[in-house]
Amino acid sequence: MSAEPLIQLKKVTKNYRIGDETVRALAGVDLEVAEGEFVALVGPSGSGKSTMLHIIGGLDSPSSGEVIVAGRNLSQASDNQLSSYRNRSVGFVFQTFNLLSRYTAQQNVALPMIYIGEGDKNRKEKSLKVLKMVGLEKRATHKPNELSGGERQRVAIARALVNDANIILADEPTGNLDSKSGNEIMDIIASLNKKEGKTIILVTHENEIAKYDQRKISMIDGKIISDASIK
Ligand code: ADP
Repeated sequence: MSAEPLIQLKKVTKNYRIGDETVRALAGVDLEVAEGEFVALVGPSGSGKSTMLHIIGGLDSPSSGEVIVAGRNLSQASDNQLSSYRNRSVGFVFQTFNLLSRYTAQQNVALPMIYIGEGDKNRKEKSLKVLKMVGLEKRATHKPNELSGGERQRVAIARALVNDANIILADEPTGNLDSKSGNEIMDIIASLNKKEGKTIILVTHENEIAKYDQRKISMIDGKIISDASIK
């Protein structure tokens, strides 16, 4: 018998209203992701990939349907439970890095620890530890504009890891990078899955995932049209 999936989406829809028009971003998505899976989400622009990622990460809520993570129904969670989920269980990595320019790499990485009330000493130690995991300990005191794109994204990955999230959600993390830095970022993400056991959902392009063993989910028009495990 298989264990309960870590992430479950049941008949999830998402509509956005703009003026008189309704855009259906998700048109009834059923999905189960087991702990430790590495899932690539592919599909044309506008097919609902980011919306799905945001809904799984508790950044947005579905119009209908249910999202259950580790047995918890996110739509029934209180605001406090939801923000704790976002801060502790999930780490986000965005295409645009989303670092604060006036903060050093280490301060950027430590930010999510402030949100959960970690003390000064712990923040320092832990942020250096995760910077080391992404090979950036020597850049800890650099500000984002003193780092390359690939290094900025590594800072963002360290930030996603600092509160020990077991789920990493990455939305085209290599989209703003040259191919060499992009490959390095993909290797780091793949090793987080393999070595650290993180569950990863990654919005990406077909050509980027060819060399990794992972599950590939294709979306079109707010629906999953194929779901193939490559093992
Ligand atoms: P993808 O990530 O595959 O490019 P998205 O999930 O970003 O797709 O978008 C799915 C659809 O929902 C698109 O038609 C997009 O224009 C629309 N959409 C996404 N976010 C919003 C929003 N905040 N307000 C209105 N429409 C949105």
